[in-house]
Amino acid sequence: MGLKAIGEFGFIARIRRGCLVRPEGVILGIGDDAAAFRTDGRLVCLVTTDMLIERVHFLRAAMSGFDLGHKALAVNLSDIAAMGGTAREAFVSIAIPDDCTLAYLDALYDGMKALAERCAVNLLGGDTTRSLADLVINVTVTGQAPERELLRRDAARPGDVIFSTGCLGDSRAGLSLILKGLGPGGPEDEALLAAHRRPEPHLAEGRFLAAQPGVHAAIDVSDGLSSDLGHIVAASGTGARLEAERLPVSPALQAFTARLGIDTAEFALAGGEDYTLIVTADPARAGEIARGFREAFGRPLYAIGTITAAPGMTLVDLSGRSRPIRPTGWDHFKEDSHEG
Ligand SMILES: [Mg+2]
Repeated sequence: MGLKAIGEFGFIARIRRGCLVRPEGVILGIGDDAAAFRTDGRLVCLVTTDMLIERVHFLRAAMSGFDLGHKALAVNLSDIAAMGGTAREAFVSIAIPDDCTLAYLDALYDGMKALAERCAVNLLGGDTTRSLADLVINVTVTGQAPERELLRRDAARPGDVIFSTGCLGDSRAGLSLILKGLGPGGPEDEALLAAHRRPEPHLAEGRFLAAQPGVHAAIDVSDGLSSDLGHIVAASGTGARLEAERLPVSPALQAFTARLGIDTAEFALAGGEDYTLIVTADPARAGEIARGFREAFGRPLYAIGTITAAPGMTLVDLSGRSRPIRPTGWDHFKEDSHEG
């Protein structure tokens, strides 16, 4: 049996066995957005790591060094955000091929440092080595959060309102524009390309939501809403019902799907690399949480559906019919390449 047969998540389930040889103080190991373990102090420590590999995660010719540096750090910060944490320190390891110019690398670190500065994250170390072919970047970020405010995947409860902190599908549309050589055709395409190239980690949003009574589970949308919400319902032993007309989609995405004649809700569901947060909250507190969010951030917290006791995920369409949702998002060991 090969990696293709078990998929990325099957592989993770396989390697997580035997990893905890000293479990005391460990709250979460492999299987959530970040690891969490107790230190001496009042707060728990969070650790997350992500590796970006040329031709698997990005095309160097299609991505500036600045954008790549930004994204390599942003995806890690997003995982800290999904735990409700404050990001603290970053460690960057990089394997560099001979044909990668110093200018590209300078821009890469500039992109990383610009985001790090805005998020008050120190770059404290890492490793640098030579690669024979592809550029490889691995970033590790630590963070911290009060233990009782930690946002976990396994804490959703039946009846919870499901929220998204932002629009879905823009990044994948931006990727499509790049891969199909379609854009940019105008300011709307520029917005989609920016969503793909410079995703903004929702750290302040995650911290805000973690501090609200009644917020239960959270995850960041990296693989796509259907896939990532699938992780919450699987870990929580619940199901979910989403409403197609409530999925937050930008005007730019609506223009994109109209132009290509594809279903906007389907596109937003599959998405990927949105780096918004999906959180679930007690329905009795949901209105207050959404009002507080709008006051704090000047934009809506989108209610997109409900956590159900019955397993499985369904999408209710505009006509009121519901159909099952399959997790169609990203799985690196099951997909052969970027799309189509
Ligand atoms: Mg994540």
